[in-house]
Amino acid sequence: MKGILLTVVVLSVLPGLLAAVTVRSGTQTEAQKADLLKWAIHDESRPLPPVVDPGPAGPLAPAPSDAVVLFNGQDLSSWEDMKGQPARWKVEGGYAEVVAKTGAIKTKQGFGDCQLHVEWATPAAVVGESQGRGNSGVFLMDIYEVQVLDSYNNKTYADGSAAAVYGQYPPLANASRKPGEWQTYDIIFHRPRFDAAGKVLSPARLTVLHNGVLVQDNVELTGPTGHHVRPPYKAHADKLPLSLQDHGNPVRYRDIWIRPLE
Ligand code: MG
Repeated sequence: MKGILLTVVVLSVLPGLLAAVTVRSGTQTEAQKADLLKWAIHDESRPLPPVVDPGPAGPLAPAPSDAVVLFNGQDLSSWEDMKGQPARWKVEGGYAEVVAKTGAIKTKQGFGDCQLHVEWATPAAVVGESQGRGNSGVFLMDIYEVQVLDSYNNKTYADGSAAAVYGQYPPLANASRKPGEWQTYDIIFHRPRFDAAGKVLSPARLTVLHNGVLVQDNVELTGPTGHHVRPPYKAHADKLPLSLQDHGNPVRYRDIWIRPLE
């Protein structure tokens, strides 16, 4: 009787134990990569990330001593528009605000591997829905987008949420603050490596903390990010400008600094 009972107990907990072992043996990155292949781009049925309250915004912290300060709230002298003309976004009150139709802005300097800090806020007065609400984006090398969006009680496709690697990886959590509140991205980026023939030696990798919450854990990008497309890699320079998207919404930015890692 005891033997039968023991067998029953072992058999009933075995699948759980095996599942636990399976989960532990793979990294979160591998799990995210496997998950990516299951979904079409912008798939509306892809599960949305769980909501995590990151707590209130803290005070502005000084940039590390070795950081390149790209925007300190005063002027956009480190930036230009996509035609190389002076950036025309509005600067006031210690922030820069997207002026619709003036286009994206990019840094004059190019960057490759880096640690990047960006603060942003979507409009306090909510206008629009889904991708039309507080949309902008941080483009590493002007190619790889970490989505900026008002994702606070705003349903959209998972891979278009705030802190998504756009069209590829939804964030692990929705750590959004309310519209109008300052939010932070701390990003660690490794650019892709190409051989002389343009073949990919290693893909781009992104780690993102949104308001201090880990939301991208060293994910491997499939290539450039895009709307309804996941194009393959195309060999590019080792250093390219960082850009911020004009998606027509008056999103604000402040406190942008970068630490080149190579
Ligand atoms: Mg965007």
